[in-house]
Amino acid sequence: MRCTKVENMMSEALDGALPIKKRGAFNDHLAQCPRCLQTFAALQEMGGVLRQLGPFSAPPTLIRRLRGHLAAPPRSFLLTGWLPYAEGLACAVVIGLGVLFGSVVSTTLGLGKADSGLAALSLDLFQATPPDSLAAGYLAMVENTDEK
Ligand SMILES: [Zn+2]
Repeated sequence: MRCTKVENMMSEALDGALPIKKRGAFNDHLAQCPRCLQTFAALQEMGGVLRQLGPFSAPPTLIRRLRGHLAAPPRSFLLTGWLPYAEGLACAVVIGLGVLFGSVVSTTLGLGKADSGLAALSLDLFQATPPDSLAAGYLAMVENTDEK
């Protein structure tokens, strides 16, 4: 049996909960391994010291704080519940403002087809394949191939 396996069994052994099947191998390892025997002896000693301390009561301030947290009503969605979604909302607002601003600028400069406020929100302003793009070249090539 390896030392790590024995170390994992030490807590159960200290509690007296180690199954009978494992006890033999556990004790055999302790008899052969001074390091594990020393560790187990230290844990037994620490358990004895802790038992001598007796029960410990928590300070009154800690008890009050814990009870306050346990009794606190669930947080309201309106106050702080929306915070996890704030990042997505901020992204949506920025994208919307970008589209709106871009359409206003292109309309002002006479670049776009948009002539109403509603058209400014559509994506008709953007060409799917700008004239100098790779996609436009590909489409032109495909059209020429189909004609032949
Ligand atoms: Zn060992």
